[in-house]
Amino acid sequence: MSDAEGSKRDIDTVFLRILARGNSSRFKFLPPPDDPVGKVIESIAAEILAFCQTTSDAELSERVKPRRVSVRMVPLGDVSALTLYMGSSHIIAFNQGVALYLYRLARAMTPYVIVRGTGDAPPPPESEAVAVIAVLLDWMSSLVRAPLVDAWETGPREQRTAENYARMAERFVLSHEIAHIMREHLVGDAGTAPQKSSSLHDLDRRPVVQEHEADAIGAMLAVDSSSAAGIDPRAAVAGVRYFFEALKLCEAVGAVHIDDAHRPAVERIALCDKVMSGRYGRVPNLHQAADQTSDLLRRLGSAALEERQRRRVIVAARMEELLTNTSWHFGSNDPAVMRSIFDEAKSMFASSPSAVIDALQASLLDTQTFERLMRTAKSAESLEQDDRLRRHRIAHFIARNAPLPVRDALGVGFP
Ligand SMILES: [Zn+2]
Repeated sequence: MSDAEGSKRDIDTVFLRILARGNSSRFKFLPPPDDPVGKVIESIAAEILAFCQTTSDAELSERVKPRRVSVRMVPLGDVSALTLYMGSSHIIAFNQGVALYLYRLARAMTPYVIVRGTGDAPPPPESEAVAVIAVLLDWMSSLVRAPLVDAWETGPREQRTAENYARMAERFVLSHEIAHIMREHLVGDAGTAPQKSSSLHDLDRRPVVQEHEADAIGAMLAVDSSSAAGIDPRAAVAGVRYFFEALKLCEAVGAVHIDDAHRPAVERIALCDKVMSGRYGRVPNLHQAADQTSDLLRRLGSAALEERQRRRVIVAARMEELLTNTSWHFGSNDPAVMRSIFDEAKSMFASSPSAVIDALQASLLDTQTFERLMRTAKSAESLEQDDRLRRHRIAHFIARNAPLPVRDALGVGFP
């Protein structure tokens, strides 16, 4: 194993240790080593770090030398990215779920962004995008906090435009983290952190003025470094705005943590806009594409939030009905009944995953309770009559047939 591979493994061990606190069965999964999204994020970080080397400040450029900053994709909860200090270098942990969300959301939006010629087909009805965004946001709001939605068919231009938006948003997130390192802001120490804190979020605490500074420098760094890579500053500004609009939708479903230092997206947009206007004011129509992006996402997003809520109510009611009325035997169950529960669960996951996951979480017993009930039961019949056990068995059946990240988040193994 090379040194680099060895240190990546050390980093994974640290993150898994922190993520697993309180529930050792959770978060077993990490992105595969050939993760394509991770590769893109790493290459963007490399571009920003290379750009930072052009400064004449030797001390500053030393702090952000490419070999002293590495990036890992991790399945975090409610932050986009987080920087930790480890050994003599910094590690930026990038939220895998957020990266997927940024790309999928852009994909839903771009059919209405691209410029269509007279020979082109008209855009699909907006209701299609609204339905997709409703499910994306619902996944983000769930315990899993990642949009487990397969990519859908879209044209090459839409796809390219979506990639550009997602990459620009990711560039800003990375630039914000790199700004923390450049300015020597408070950064959690991976060596001591797991003993002191209860979540990754606890490691991301610093004064609000440092967060503002990282946003301001991050916005400039994102636009400057992309200009150096040949990207139009207007597209870069639109990408930064896209990130905040996407974040705002996550905030609306409670998928993002907000506190004294981590301010709501709407406040952060205002600060970044001001900074970017000051620096690139010479560029004509600097904010035009950004404003169009905001208008579109606000329109699609508010309809999607309503649609999500509507679906959640329906699915939650149906889950409750299913858990209440289905009989379940400890021996063998009718395969046709199991098949129909399996199929229905699958379609409910496609409509409102958070409602399904919430219902499963509420019905699943922890190991201790489960074992106690089994131990203290007077007879096989009394076990079958115990309502908690019956609900648990049905929830367990649905959960163990769910996608792996759902099983991990719920801490459900087999059997
Ligand atoms: Zn920050």
